[in-house]
Amino acid sequence: MPIDAWFPTFIYKAPLAARVRDRRILNRELLMECLQIREHDAEGQRWSSSSYPGGYTSYGSMSHLQKFSSTFMDLERRIDRHVAKFARHLDYVLTGRQLVMTDCWVNIMPTNVVHGSHIHPLSTMSGTYYVKTPRGCSAIKFEDPRLQAFMGQPPRRADAMAHNRPHISYPAEAGHLVLFESWLRHEVPPNPTSAERISISFNYNWF
Ligand code: FE
Repeated sequence: MPIDAWFPTFIYKAPLAARVRDRRILNRELLMECLQIREHDAEGQRWSSSSYPGGYTSYGSMSHLQKFSSTFMDLERRIDRHVAKFARHLDYVLTGRQLVMTDCWVNIMPTNVVHGSHIHPLSTMSGTYYVKTPRGCSAIKFEDPRLQAFMGQPPRRADAMAHNRPHISYPAEAGHLVLFESWLRHEVPPNPTSAERISISFNYNWF
């Protein structure tokens, strides 16, 4: 067919470390710290009860965890490498500046907790690293960024090819990270499992 595809939206997904054992060791430490942070973060619990009903996030209280914990620092160092790779793929020209992690926070989603559709304003690149992903827990779901421009377009077939659908979901997989440009709208549907889904989200900006 004489048809080309242009203006793609890139999403990066990879295991954080090549060796399964490294990921397991790091995740054991991260899991412990995530649970400790929730336990001691009274301000975050209050913030979550109004802004993240049923779940816990340190987004409103402790959102620079990479500056306070050596475990999170280690995580930052490992994520940096993936961010650099993704930036190269995106052909960013950083003119002597660097992509730097600005925010890093914990998300804990018990049964039926949902994270509504959002973007990450004022950031360049964002992502999530998965610490604990009970079998069957919700994926991260991305929305076609051109959706608001589709005015007179007819609906698509239910069995349309993946690249012609308005959403794409990436399963949450412990030990893996997902990166995307911060303007890309995404959400996490309700967690259908009986166990907590635990992740760490982060933003990068260029300085
Ligand atoms: Fe997000």
